[in-house]
Amino acid sequence: QVELIDITKSYDKQKDVLNGINLSIEEGEFFVLVGPSGSGKSTLLRMIAGLEEISGGFLKINDQTVNHLPPKERNLSMVFQNYALYPHLTVEQNILFGLKARKVEKREQQIRLMEAAEMLGLTELLKRKPRELSGGQRQRVALGRSVVSHAPLCLMDEPLSNLDAKLRANMRVQIRRLQKQLGLTMIYVTHDQVEAMTMGDRIMVLNEGKIQQVGKPITLYNEPENLFVASFIGSPK
Ligand code: ATP
Ligand code: MG
Repeated sequence: QVELIDITKSYDKQKDVLNGINLSIEEGEFFVLVGPSGSGKSTLLRMIAGLEEISGGFLKINDQTVNHLPPKERNLSMVFQNYALYPHLTVEQNILFGLKARKVEKREQQIRLMEAAEMLGLTELLKRKPRELSGGQRQRVALGRSVVSHAPLCLMDEPLSNLDAKLRANMRVQIRRLQKQLGLTMIYVTHDQVEAMTMGDRIMVLNEGKIQQVGKPITLYNEPENLFVASFIGSPK
């Protein structure tokens, strides 16, 4: 469970990028964050990951305040928009990179690798380098890295934005299945309304650093609380 209590963020002395964010995300929930470019989605995700300092408020994970806990101790995994694979390492080495760093036992590494590779259809590709893969395959490697971590909380920042429409549709289903299968708590950033509506248990709409509405997809669609939500989610009001 992830709880944000009156979270604010400003870079340097500039105006707030996020302001008064109050939010509670349940265990096992698929929570989607949407909003226009510059609304603060990545900033929020990076604060939860511990990659960005929190300017005000409290961040709690499983009832523990983690404002100053280093990223490694937060027991979460993060998938970035640009995949960030190591070009000189094979698929296998890329997937296992984090486990090696954490000195997880060799046998355990192999078990998790096989499990993830099978789940993501990467078994045949383990010896390849990233440049020998298609965009969708690279994306699956990035997902594989997050799967083997066995972290119960997963953060994804527009993981599908570089893919074509068909692959995107396919990966949506895969990610959703994975999340259910592993019982992950997911915080998923996108600016794609279809993605938000089809994947999210709940959606939060963000604009200019403020929460516009949080709710089930159907609620946001049928009962948008303001014009911004209405136009963003795409129902007339
Ligand atoms: P996008 O959809 O384009 O990825 P976003 O919702 O993820 O947008 P953020 O990256 O969180 O937006 O940025 C929110 C605001 O914070 C923007 O105005 C941005 O210019 C500003 N910002 C982000 N990172 C920094 C930084 N390191 N220093 C100063 N300002 C920043
Ligand atoms: Mg972003």
